[in-house]
Amino acid sequence: MSQADIGLVGLAVMGQNLVLNMADHGFHVSVYNRSKQKTDDFIQNRVEDKPITGYDSLEGLVNSLKAPRKVMLMVKAGEVVDHFIDQLLPLLDKGDMIIDGGNSLYTDSTRRTQSLKEKGILFVGTGVSGGEEGARHGPSIMPGGDPAAWPSVKPIFQAIAAQSDGEPCCDWVGPEGAGHYVKMVHNGIEYGDMQLITEAYQLMREGLGMSADECQAVFAEWNKGVLDSYLIEITADILSFKDKDGEPLVDKILDAAGQKGTGKWTGISSLELGMPLTLITESVYARCLSALKSERVEAAKLYPRSDKTLDVDKDAMLTAIHDALYASKIISYAQGYMLMSEAAKEFDWDLNYGGIALMWRGGCIIRSTFLGEIKKAYDASPNLSNLLKAPFFEDAIKSAEANWRQAVIFGIQSQIPTPALSSALAFFDGYRSERVPANLLQAQRDYFGAHTYERVDAPRGEYFHTDWIHSG
Ligand code: NAP
Repeated sequence: MSQADIGLVGLAVMGQNLVLNMADHGFHVSVYNRSKQKTDDFIQNRVEDKPITGYDSLEGLVNSLKAPRKVMLMVKAGEVVDHFIDQLLPLLDKGDMIIDGGNSLYTDSTRRTQSLKEKGILFVGTGVSGGEEGARHGPSIMPGGDPAAWPSVKPIFQAIAAQSDGEPCCDWVGPEGAGHYVKMVHNGIEYGDMQLITEAYQLMREGLGMSADECQAVFAEWNKGVLDSYLIEITADILSFKDKDGEPLVDKILDAAGQKGTGKWTGISSLELGMPLTLITESVYARCLSALKSERVEAAKLYPRSDKTLDVDKDAMLTAIHDALYASKIISYAQGYMLMSEAAKEFDWDLNYGGIALMWRGGCIIRSTFLGEIKKAYDASPNLSNLLKAPFFEDAIKSAEANWRQAVIFGIQSQIPTPALSSALAFFDGYRSERVPANLLQAQRDYFGAHTYERVDAPRGEYFHTDWIHSG
């Protein structure tokens, strides 16, 4: 009898936990995995008496589902998703749905929405954030795709999502690849938040000569205030974790960062759309530079750093670092929202910015108290053109500005790189400048390439060229 509410393909860490979460909320779930052993192990070891049934063929899984059928893919992003879509198509009827919950590139989701629509199948491309724990107990879910699918998918997604202030951290994001776009920007912001925390940590460890335990106490304290967030909380936990010899485990970890690509995609999209997403892009580059470990070891011998610590008031500098982190975080989110709003214009998506903040407020890796303030800012002013213009953030930036500069100067004088903190400050100084030196740049372009320029004393759109060599 066809009775399962949803089918899920892909029983790796995310798939297994989402299925258990769905079953806990009373949904009957059919599951399938390419390697049958994984399905068997899952059914034997984790399912207990939950309403979950394993299948060893996609046909069996599809035939077990209530109409309209909903099949969710939690598999490796990329061509594996297309491979499963191709296999599912002959098994599905018009009006059935395929949901891709992996970290797919938004352009792939746009393509899939359009090509499946032509075949009468409704496609949903959804971001799922929160890692293993989130998937099991309440992730943040960012669905986009064919809006006709949303009424059928909504009861399941909103039931299993994290809740924040009594509201689910899941709502319809927009058509085509909008859900995966917003998830991509979320991941980019995650890169930025993590980089900012590591810069603050390095300023404390190497600039102020603090131990891991001392840093732990500072992050734990910061987690009680405006920086209250999952990433600050886990940073404090990590810093207190000791290896077998009693030394902090963090000191034994090789300083070469990995990445899976969503930060890079965010940076690429910002270049394509012409939006200055400096902090996130610097964070991707910081990971790239960290990965050049052997080259850095050689360069460190060539250009040894002074080991002299500066004589500063430690408590005052800790406050400065705190404020620099907070102000830079505001810049990072302002830049992320600038990018989303440009993407909405470019792709003709109607994005709900306050709703996005609510979706990120709980369940996901960037969850924080701070996102509540972004939600409030967009609730108060739904057409807000930039987060930096919201009174709450204007006050926060103005109060932090002097300390932010002190922390960046401290990094420069201590020879400690702060690409995220300092690029955020450079962006802020550019954004708040009525006049930037692009006049000279336009003159250079006109000089060597006759690219023309506009004049301050002529209407916009009127272009001039000067023969810089022979006249004047
Ligand atoms: P994953 O390691 O990304 O993917 C493993 C799953 O994909 C398994 O079911 C595997 O089947 C299947 N698979 C891989 N290559 C395949 C192929 N060539 N043909 C058929 N099936 C193939 O799993 P995950 O970490 O649970 O993530 C699932 C998705 O969620 C990914 O898109 C990931 O980026 C995204 N995501 C992950 C996290 C996280 O914290 N891990 C968080 C958010 C989103 P076999 O068992 O047969 O190999």
